[in-house]
Amino acid sequence: MILGRNLPKVLCIGLILITAVNILLVFYTKGTIQTLILGALHKDLPLHLAEWDGTVIKRLSHLEVDFQHLKDDMKLAMKQQENVNNTLKQAVEAMASDTRHRFHKKLFPNSQLFKQWGEGLSEAQQKMAQELFQKFGYNVYLSNQLPLNRTIPDTRDSRCLQKIYPSQLPSLSVILIFMNEALSVIQRAIISIINRTPSQVLKEIILVDDCSSNGELQAPLNEKIKFYNQKYPGLLKIVRHTERKGLAQSRNTGWEAATADVVAILDAHIEVNIGWAEPILARIQEDRTVIVSPVFDKIHFDTFELKKYGLSADGFNWELWCRYDSLPQSWIDQQDATAPLKSPSIMGILAANRLFLGEIGVLDGGMLVYGGENVELSLRVWQCGGKIEVLPCSRIAHLERHHKPYALDLSIALKRNALRVAEIWMDEYKHMVYLAWNVPLENSGIDFGDISSRKALREKLKCKTFDWYLKNVYPLLKPISSIVGYGRMRNALDESICLDQGAVPGNTPIMYYCHTFSPQNVYYHQTGEFYVGALIAEKNTEDRCLTDPGKGENPTLEPCSKAASNGLNIYWDFKLGGAVINRATKRCLEIKKGTSGTYVLVLQTCTAQMWKIQYVIRNWGTN
Ligand code: UDP
Ligand code: MN
Repeated sequence: MILGRNLPKVLCIGLILITAVNILLVFYTKGTIQTLILGALHKDLPLHLAEWDGTVIKRLSHLEVDFQHLKDDMKLAMKQQENVNNTLKQAVEAMASDTRHRFHKKLFPNSQLFKQWGEGLSEAQQKMAQELFQKFGYNVYLSNQLPLNRTIPDTRDSRCLQKIYPSQLPSLSVILIFMNEALSVIQRAIISIINRTPSQVLKEIILVDDCSSNGELQAPLNEKIKFYNQKYPGLLKIVRHTERKGLAQSRNTGWEAATADVVAILDAHIEVNIGWAEPILARIQEDRTVIVSPVFDKIHFDTFELKKYGLSADGFNWELWCRYDSLPQSWIDQQDATAPLKSPSIMGILAANRLFLGEIGVLDGGMLVYGGENVELSLRVWQCGGKIEVLPCSRIAHLERHHKPYALDLSIALKRNALRVAEIWMDEYKHMVYLAWNVPLENSGIDFGDISSRKALREKLKCKTFDWYLKNVYPLLKPISSIVGYGRMRNALDESICLDQGAVPGNTPIMYYCHTFSPQNVYYHQTGEFYVGALIAEKNTEDRCLTDPGKGENPTLEPCSKAASNGLNIYWDFKLGGAVINRATKRCLEIKKGTSGTYVLVLQTCTAQMWKIQYVIRNWGTN
């Protein structure tokens, strides 16, 4: 790419060089011959026959030597010209190919890989890049060209640079787990760790291969490990799973193989930044019960450029998807940008005292594929006597993939794992996870595996309740106990269509063909509200309530408490299999055939239409 843009310049320099050399050549060649011949004639003309003897032979042989020099000089000059010609030829070829490139059609105009990247690639190159992208979820074509020891911007707050850490720090095992990641990406992670971790603390780097099928991660990776170990004896270790075990068990395998005081368990597609390890080691040395997370920066999946992320707490919603939460006021009030930030959860990547992590049960090996294991650990840590902190001065750049190579639909694994977390740790609040995922509380048909050993662990560690966790660690999550019916809302006139939140942005609910996604989640409260759309149930963001605005025939969706305080009509009477009647306006939520012949949602004088909601709680509405 960079060469491509410089081609005209290269060409110009080439042309100037050629002309210069040619002129020189002409002068030089001419000059030499003239001097030679004239010199020879000058000297040799007055020759007398008498002198046609040894001197002549000498002179002739001198002439021969001069000719030999001339021949050599000519050869050199021709060679130089040939080199220049080659440079020119290459430049012309490159320019022609550049011109061709510029007019290459984009083979994959809809591929996210080529939105910001890939200008000027030939068709063959585009094909190769796209194929690698589909396979890995990031730009392996580019990664293979970037230096393995590239520098990345130092994203720490300047106050981190003033920090002084103890000279004696605990030793560190870094664990990298992977399943079909690109070799160049794994190598870049390893090299960043070697280059940016003080060598006196870095005891080992443990690679855990979760049964990759990718050929370059077999013998070629072994070769690389051998190579690094020649330079740093014993530093790299590899453990390979003979069957796919998922990321929780891979992290556990790494923990089992580790021997240092502290373990840092990372993804394989990271680059640690300058000074990442010292804050972690110092904090864990101070308090062995703290599980720490670095701050992540984003490596773009397409350009591999770094985007700095601001500091935030690691949180999750009721589906147990991770998310970033805003900074708590208590942390801001400290006015110390380097201070550890108490966090409800980790994102996945973590560092801990190796033995403490073992005492509390490492990760739940019953978590399959991906997801949920981070929340499980977080609840266990907090509820069983530990704590979680994000350390602002420890930064790791993490490649955010476009898609995961190991699962097309992550929600299947996450839903199953989330129910497992709920059953082990969430006591009387576990229904919130079922509600958020729109799964029935009984007979969900989802097998979350045997949880008896994890429940026994909870007993053994004498852990606190989830109620304690909500009140003391994560008050942002707002459990709801008033929901009595949830799931899809169908009208008996046509059961193939469901109540739906409608276009976003927008606040007009509609009837739409039923599907399984959250825009059709509906939650009916004993108190009379209907939430429509994905369940939020948290302090800072409001769920939206079905509202009768009092005029017109369209219902609306409004943030519930705002609607309530504005005197909007958000309370409805509803019995399973009965009408939906607004308590204030007495109008009914009904459907009627619109001009296009399909049913539309309306508010009108009741005609005794009947509605059903998919799941009920505590037998509501059935007796
Ligand atoms: N991983 C694994 N086995 C699996 C799935 C994932 O070892 O079955 C590894 C993966 O290669 C990566 C880490 O687990 O190093 C975390 O996965 P990913 O990066 O996909 O999760 P994200 O960071 O996007 O949450
Ligand atoms: Mn990752």
